Amino acid sequence: MVRPIFIGGEWRQGRGPVSISHFPADGSINAEIGTASVEDVEEAVQAAEHAWRHPSWRQALPHQRAAVLYRVADLIEQRSEQLAALQTKDNGKPLAETRALVASAAGTARYFAAACETLDEQLNTPRALDFMTLSVHEPIGVVAAITPWNSPIASEMQKIAPALAGGNAVLLKPADATPLAALELAKLFEEAGLPKGLLSILPGRGSVVGEALARHPLVRKISFTGGTNTGRRLAHVAADKLIPTSLELGGKSPTIVLEDADLELAAKGVVYGIFSSAGQACIAGSRLFVHRSLYDRFLTRLLELTRELRVGHPERPGIHMGPLINEAHLASVADYVALARAEGGKVLCGGERLTEGELAEGCFYPPTIIAGLPNGARVCQEEIFGPVLVVMRFDDEEQLVAEANDSVFGLAAGIWSEDFRRAWHLARRLEAGTIWINTYKKFSVSAPFGGFKESGLGREKGRQGVLAYMQQKSIYVGLSDQPNPWCC
Ligand code: NAD
Repeated sequence: MVRPIFIGGEWRQGRGPVSISHFPADGSINAEIGTASVEDVEEAVQAAEHAWRHPSWRQALPHQRAAVLYRVADLIEQRSEQLAALQTKDNGKPLAETRALVASAAGTARYFAAACETLDEQLNTPRALDFMTLSVHEPIGVVAAITPWNSPIASEMQKIAPALAGGNAVLLKPADATPLAALELAKLFEEAGLPKGLLSILPGRGSVVGEALARHPLVRKISFTGGTNTGRRLAHVAADKLIPTSLELGGKSPTIVLEDADLELAAKGVVYGIFSSAGQACIAGSRLFVHRSLYDRFLTRLLELTRELRVGHPERPGIHMGPLINEAHLASVADYVALARAEGGKVLCGGERLTEGELAEGCFYPPTIIAGLPNGARVCQEEIFGPVLVVMRFDDEEQLVAEANDSVFGLAAGIWSEDFRRAWHLARRLEAGTIWINTYKKFSVSAPFGGFKESGLGREKGRQGVLAYMQQKSIYVGLSDQPNPWCC
């Protein structure tokens, strides 16, 4: 049976072609899902425009909007096992990871509910006594949210929650490969009492549904997470329409091991930073710089730890790495490894698709470490988005900073050192939106997240996150009983 989609508050068959969700671990079919047509997008946008302007939402008190998000957070937690299992089926991440994504979605909903309830407006008191000003924040209107496949429920809630908290309506287009979590989320919002039309889930092709949404004249903000090329394209659309856009894009993040690092802690952190999620993470620490003085020792330990990783069926306990999302992506990762070899790189471990036993049925690729290439090589510059780490050595900090920053990307970086002051100063010199010192891939919803350079525009999360979905208005109030004087 083809599953319906959520258009303007109604569950019905999308009029686009049917898409099939596959389990990347064995290729079995999870579900057949309808996709949206351009006509469905039009109906969803009209419903959204009506819903956000309706007094029941426009004039809702902050705690009334927040109440919906609090209820959704509770419902997510009540169904966390089911939601995690669904995402594992959809994108092949191990259950331990998809459980964390579900918990993150519930936390995000609560955080933005609280941010919405506690948002203060500003009363400005200029020295002039004959007027005062107030600055208030108002919704933007209809928001198009477009997401990738690697962390569906978490990245989707990161857009839906602040957009609704800010009083907007949201039209979400999930990634082609992973629509299941978003459709479940819609059921929870419905159950939590979100008024009709404020949320639509419109699965479908980016070039059809995503474009139609982004270009629609009533869509007043584009919130995008995905690849840099798609982000650039959407930035052009937003520029033509003169609407705000937030772009969370790709990365090629450096991880740096200084000579005084705690070797064991750093090696484990580096392995986790690149190989968790099978490297399919925008913030994956995919370029490793190790100081020459401990390079050999560090590499030996890194290889030992990497060889201990368990790659396998993502529904089985104790698995570190599941499959890649699909055959096309696996082929792209394998092509990069072939390119590394052709460029003179030495593959120290991994580097061949896994086909033993049940792994033959899915898209399994092993953790792969490559050495012997300079930072200018294509595999050191381009985002592979898979379990591939390139390792380089450095001699001094000037060379290190120049090479770490020599990238079009600037999403994240990691530093391992026992000298906190040195790490702090180095952190300030690195061109990236998030820096981890003696840890990696830790996240807090209260810390703003986003990229430098081609890794993005704008920030998500943090208390300011809700303001990214609002626009400021200043209101002047005259206090004088005299007419305006003829001056400025
Ligand atoms: P992608 O850019 O191919 O697709 C992302 C979304 O955009 C999908 O929903 C897709 O259907 C849609 N899309 C594609 N073409 C479109 C168009 N012309 N108009 C409108 N929408 C369109 O990315 P992906 O392969 O799904 O995800 C991987 C990428 O996402 C990587 O580059 C990764 O680094 C990035 N990512 C970034 C972050 C971050 O927070 N910075 C987080 C996760 C993933």
